[in-house]
Amino acid sequence: MAIQTIGVVGAGSMGTGIANLAAINGFNVILRDIEEQYLDGSLKRMSKFMDKSVARGKMTEEQKQAALSRVQTTTKLEDMKDAEVVIEAVLEDLNLKKEVFSALDEIVREGVILATNTSSMSITEIAAATKRPELVAGMHFFNPAQLMKLVEVVRGFKTSDETVQELKALSKRLTKEPVEVKKDSPGFIVNRIMLPQFIEAIKLVEEGVASYEDIDKAVKLGLNYPMGPFELQDFAGVEIGYHVMEYFKEEFNNNQFAPPLLIKQLVRAGRLGKKTGAGFYDYE
Ligand code: NAD
Repeated sequence: MAIQTIGVVGAGSMGTGIANLAAINGFNVILRDIEEQYLDGSLKRMSKFMDKSVARGKMTEEQKQAALSRVQTTTKLEDMKDAEVVIEAVLEDLNLKKEVFSALDEIVREGVILATNTSSMSITEIAAATKRPELVAGMHFFNPAQLMKLVEVVRGFKTSDETVQELKALSKRLTKEPVEVKKDSPGFIVNRIMLPQFIEAIKLVEEGVASYEDIDKAVKLGLNYPMGPFELQDFAGVEIGYHVMEYFKEEFNNNQFAPPLLIKQLVRAGRLGKKTGAGFYDYE
């Protein structure tokens, strides 16, 4: 039977986008966060996102209301028992993810796939927190999940072929283009390519070679990227980039990935991009 009910754990930026995407495409969604206030905020952001679609004539008010009615919110992880697949989107913290996967493994039915939206962490290690590693894989959406076309479907060491095929098919039903990441390697494809670019951009500022504005402008106009490296880091959350740099440095045993001093200072100062509205751009 084709999957009809998707569990989403974590109602932050990504969880909200994934839950909204699933609801728009006719799936039932069970969305879990740790406090009601985060769930309320998430539903408001979905509603606001869909208002824009309604205003553009891409969806009717009735379709919007129908999508919202398909999202069931909960603070109880046990409610994931009815999910036919679960996509985890909690904070980028390996121990937290392992805790969530270990608990989900006890809650969901036999045969249910547990996917993680981690940007960089080891699928194999997350899978090892469960007794179903063949049913665990990465399903890496991009921000905003409602709009960005790509999903990286990532194999852990023990992920089965069936799990990969199932998640690719699900991605397509969610109107996305999946690519398969054949090995569990930090950052998968996109972040592996993007992170060194972030580091070089920060170093260019540190060395006084160019300003944030001119680096973003150069990358947009010279490489035809829609956003420059600083705009993108501020949008995604500066601390996420910082943690990924630390993680790459450890995993690859390579100081090439060590976070430059400037991003360290920014994170220490609590300037976290989208979270505070103040990232690189007003840190002079
Ligand atoms: P976020 O901080 O916006 O949201 C995380 C949410 O998880 C918060 O609402 C928090 O309350 C909730 N949470 C914490 N512990 C929980 C638990 N035990 N159960 C349920 N919810 C819990 O983070 P985000 O930006 O949405 O990132 C989520 C994941 O997606 C991370 O792994 C991140 O690396 C990945 N990701 C992020 C982006 C991005 O651009 N932001 C892109 C792709 C992937």
